[in-house]
Amino acid sequence: MTTLMTHAVIPIAIALAAPQGLISSRLLGAGVLASLLPDADMMGFYWGIPYSSELGHRGFTHSILFAVAIACCAAAACNSLRSRAYIAFLFVGMSCISHPLLDMLTSGGKGVALFWPFEKTRVLSSFRPVSAAPMNVARFFTDHGWQVFKSELFWIWLPFFSLALIVRFARR
Ligand SMILES: [Zn+2]
Repeated sequence: MTTLMTHAVIPIAIALAAPQGLISSRLLGAGVLASLLPDADMMGFYWGIPYSSELGHRGFTHSILFAVAIACCAAAACNSLRSRAYIAFLFVGMSCISHPLLDMLTSGGKGVALFWPFEKTRVLSSFRPVSAAPMNVARFFTDHGWQVFKSELFWIWLPFFSLALIVRFARR
């Protein structure tokens, strides 16, 4: 996995690149939440659910279907999110699906069940430049944790925020 705060880079970068006023602060909050939500499956470790199970880590919550379901919930709640239904659907859907796509770029761990329930094989990208984050929080504060942070900074934070700022300034 990538670290949780790194998953939030994608909705924030999309909001930065989007035309002013298109993404309300509530919708941005929902997008950030949707980008983190797939890792709620980590609770499975405490409940004894095996990593390789469909309900386990990187299982069904890391699928396209899950992202579509969350996007539908956002569209249904568009009034509360101060947005139009299709904007809420697209923004929250992209935020949620970005999570497993980023996970696929990590050098460790099992792949993600992206095509669940139609295809249960876990998938990983053949290009995996991002160091996998430790699952134990205490290990973030070690040399390995620092390596992970640097690789996320270089491969995710830097390119996505740069792209978002270029789009934002190009629009002016
Ligand atoms: Zn994940």
